[in-house]
Amino acid sequence: MSTLRIDAIPCLRDNYAYLISGPGGDAWIVDPSEPGPLAEALAERPGLVLRGILATHHHHDHVGGIEALVTGAGDAPPWVAGHASDRGRIPRQSVFVDAPEDRFIVTGVELSGRPLLAMWIPGHTTGAIAWYLPPEVDDGSAAGDVFTGDTLFAAGCGRLFEGTAEQMHRSLKSLTSLSPATRLWFGHEYTAANLRFAATVEPENPAIVRRQAELTVPSTPTTVAAEVATNPFVRSAVAAELAERRAAKDVFRG
Ligand code: FE
Ligand code: ZN
Repeated sequence: MSTLRIDAIPCLRDNYAYLISGPGGDAWIVDPSEPGPLAEALAERPGLVLRGILATHHHHDHVGGIEALVTGAGDAPPWVAGHASDRGRIPRQSVFVDAPEDRFIVTGVELSGRPLLAMWIPGHTTGAIAWYLPPEVDDGSAAGDVFTGDTLFAAGCGRLFEGTAEQMHRSLKSLTSLSPATRLWFGHEYTAANLRFAATVEPENPAIVRRQAELTVPSTPTTVAAEVATNPFVRSAVAAELAERRAAKDVFRG
């Protein structure tokens, strides 16, 4: 049970931005690829006021809508948060979070009174960051929410554009060390193709077969449990194995 509502907003061809809204009408956006669909989503719920924008990494299909959304907010512009090392690469960035690898730290930012945590997850890009809203009550009855950008996809991971296989391996391990029910909200709807690749890596894995049969789109969010059971990159024992699988996926046409 969460007082924050999260809506996936399809953008561009296969991107997801996310609209987070609180009971008081405050709203936040994760990874606005383009302004249009997000401006529409905000307009559909007239009480909402955009307070902040969270960027998971600097790629254009995750930050392309920031400029217009900030300008459109007039004299009460939303803050724009990203990893400190993405300085100069995220338009209008005003919050620079120097989060470490391997653990989530509190950012000092709150969304409707809920603390926002962050962890550095290099691999796809050097400045990639995961944003985490932990469960409201820590009694095991509620699940937290993580925005993973292009580092972790359902049954897949991002390409290694700036980082190394070692970094990606560590980042995926850190993300999936959260409790099994944790929801993971990712950046692209690649799940069907990712599962076809996963099935070639582990043809005998019944969890992959089952997930393929039950797949519905949109497939976001996934969970830590589903990724631990089916994601060939999360399931790589060592970084070298992840590197091999990532190279095979780069040329996979399934
Ligand atoms: Fe990207
Ligand atoms: Zn992307």
